[in-house]
Amino acid sequence: MKTNTEQIFTYLDEAASTDESLYLEQLIVACKKWAEGTAGPDLKVNATKEEIRRGLQLAILKGMRQNVQSHHQMTPDAIGMLIARIASLLLPHKESVQVLDPAAGTGNLLLTVMNTLEVPSAAVAVEIDELLARMIVAGADLMEQTIRIYVQDALRPLLVDPVDLAVCDLPVGYYPDDENALNFEMMPADGHAYAHHLFIEQTMHHLKPEGYGIFIVPSALFESAQSGELHTYLKKHTVIRGILQLPQTLFKNVAQSKSILMLQKPSEQNGPTPDVLLATVPDMTDKQAMISFFNKMEDWSNENVK
Ligand code: SAM
Repeated sequence: MKTNTEQIFTYLDEAASTDESLYLEQLIVACKKWAEGTAGPDLKVNATKEEIRRGLQLAILKGMRQNVQSHHQMTPDAIGMLIARIASLLLPHKESVQVLDPAAGTGNLLLTVMNTLEVPSAAVAVEIDELLARMIVAGADLMEQTIRIYVQDALRPLLVDPVDLAVCDLPVGYYPDDENALNFEMMPADGHAYAHHLFIEQTMHHLKPEGYGIFIVPSALFESAQSGELHTYLKKHTVIRGILQLPQTLFKNVAQSKSILMLQKPSEQNGPTPDVLLATVPDMTDKQAMISFFNKMEDWSNENVK
């Protein structure tokens, strides 16, 4: 017997496969029909939000493989689930959580976090690519998650109230719009700014005091030519709460390796400086190593998260 996730993938994949060049477009239509109740997978028991997300994610991955576009890079599930766990550890006493993802892509990372939080959440997603933004709407409707979506350059002014939590798999590279980049402290004196630096700055600007930003960053973030601007900015406007090196097995080569950077917006009163969580995430297929890693993270959060 097929699992719910398999049934969901089968329904979505069949509906999206009638014309392979339009797979993602048809996938959106299939999600809408399912949300409206006019078509859908054959399920014996109701699907959970995470089963829906996983089935949809498999179909999106298939669609992206068929129609490769370099900026369409969904955050891998292993990383999304780790970030969701970190988010729950950082916000233990909240009754509801406002979330922002300023580079939301397909919404997979954002929806993983929202589905995993133990308290109600509502989110704002920003994405420059219109097709991906429609994918987020379709997924959010199916998972009954409240997400407001802005289709725009996230580095332009954002009409967003301050949030408790931001997550972002940062787009990495140069930001070409120098005129707009001049509005940011991390614009360097010469040349283009790094988009990933500006995204950190923009995100921190939209957090409530004591709010958290969890970013997927290049592991070489602090070794780049513009690391001076980054250091100055982080020292002035943020509290670094943690840096987790992701396992090399998740990436094709060392140059592509990524880390998770955990930042907090300082509160209005000065408190004691918390310990920075510095760790290397073990190979995620090693169950025992992952259990002891999560135990260490929990000990850290018990001592360092208010
Ligand atoms: N977390 C996403 C997911 O799970 O699908 C993947 C994010 S992907 C690594 C980065 C995203 O940033 C891409 O979808 C890209 O289109 C978007 N992006 C790049 N530059 C942008 C900008 N200036 N404003 C808004 N979105 C942007």
